[in-house]
Amino acid sequence: MKTQIKQICNKALGGALLSANEIRELFAVSFISEESYHIQWASRCISEKAGLAEIHGQVGVNTSACPCNCRFCSFAAVNGSFKENRVSDLEYIIEQCLQLQDQGANAIYLMATANMNFPDFLNIAGEVRLKLKPESIMIANVRDFDYYEGLALKDAGFTGIYHAIRLGEGKVTRISPGKRLETIQAAKKVGLKVGTCVEPVGPEHSLDELVEKTIIAREIEPVFSGAARRISIPGSNLEQYGMASEASMAHILAVVRLAMGPGVSGNCTHEPNTPGAIAGANLFWAEAGFNPRDTVEKTEVNRGFDIKKCQGIFKEAEYPVLQGPSVFFARD
Ligand code: SF4
Repeated sequence: MKTQIKQICNKALGGALLSANEIRELFAVSFISEESYHIQWASRCISEKAGLAEIHGQVGVNTSACPCNCRFCSFAAVNGSFKENRVSDLEYIIEQCLQLQDQGANAIYLMATANMNFPDFLNIAGEVRLKLKPESIMIANVRDFDYYEGLALKDAGFTGIYHAIRLGEGKVTRISPGKRLETIQAAKKVGLKVGTCVEPVGPEHSLDELVEKTIIAREIEPVFSGAARRISIPGSNLEQYGMASEASMAHILAVVRLAMGPGVSGNCTHEPNTPGAIAGANLFWAEAGFNPRDTVEKTEVNRGFDIKKCQGIFKEAEYPVLQGPSVFFARD
């Protein structure tokens, strides 16, 4: 074991913030090595200190041929998976949200494509809010927005948002990193909590970009961060690069965990997997409805995992799961 790697892990375990160079050193370690397993162990220790694991449930409410053309997304017009603009029936959306809540989801996310009509999304959210238990936490996963739209999200009953400056943002997407950051600032200004992630990771991403996006995530001061891999969308021009393995993602999410510092409770990974939880991922998502990593309309019958399956994965990783509303989103 290289002394330097152990020293960097000890620094993170002691609660100190790692420098960009130290984060780079950790990312550079071979995934299958004594050093990597030490990093993964240290990550798991920090995550366990933060409390129990959580499972959040997400319902994708609409599909479209989205003009933002994020190459990793099945909704991107350029990928041709979804050609029409369609919003799911309100009854179906409510039914999926209630099912996730009743199965034990610690928070319910509503996700919409970037070009969904914003007032329509707010109306759906308002109806869902009325049906959820008052203590259930609702999170928005939506397009970029300004201060006033952030206020509207808060008024509709959202506690927070999921938003990320994705790997390749502005290059494999038509959205600038600055726009994504402005949205996060608007959300924080109106009192919406922010969850983020280093995603979608592919085998082609450089150490420099992983470090850059990890530091951006840390500077957001999110309630959770983590790392998730890109799922290949058939026909996407990113398909040629293949997908990062679960073994590599266990290492990467562990480094992100160490880099975040003690102020960040959650460390997500997606899609849910046992190596990730063993390495310190303490947040998974169950999914229903439309899904940017899937090409069918109801992801719950295809790629999407339900709450029970996520609970089973945490059980295999010896990771107890929180019952009740999210603690990550409850913290100030
Ligand atoms: S990730 Fe969002 S903005 Fe990008 S193509 Fe998909 S729906 Fe549109």
